[in-house]
Amino acid sequence: MSLYSPSIEKLIESFERLPSIGHKTAARLAFYMLNCTEEETNEFVSSILDAKKNLKYCSKCYNISDTDPCFICGNPKRDATQICVVEDVRDIIAMEKTHEFKGVYHVLHGSISPMNGVGPDDIKIKELYLD
Ligand SMILES: [Zn+2]
Repeated sequence: MSLYSPSIEKLIESFERLPSIGHKTAARLAFYMLNCTEEETNEFVSSILDAKKNLKYCSKCYNISDTDPCFICGNPKRDATQICVVEDVRDIIAMEKTHEFKGVYHVLHGSISPMNGVGPDDIKIKELYLD
């Protein structure tokens, strides 16, 4: 039986579902949120809902973006003959921070892992050949 009230327990459980968040951290985040003003809380919730509503996959590279094509694919100065294949959207950010790569990307959204039952059909490999 939890010592927290059901509403607090539910909030803690919601934070615990996030990656790398254990029970103690979830409780700390929950109590942080409870101490936020209504305006701060609405802004936090809106940022999540807006991201979920507005973000989409770029139809060319499968980057996650507010626009289709994304700002990279939509940039005529990028060299579309050079494609950097990356596992995750965060890899694009890492590459862009170097300011060295002037081509475009293709995001696989995962990697093949036979041990975990992830095969070529589970990630965006065939889309690389189709485009
Ligand atoms: Zn793109």
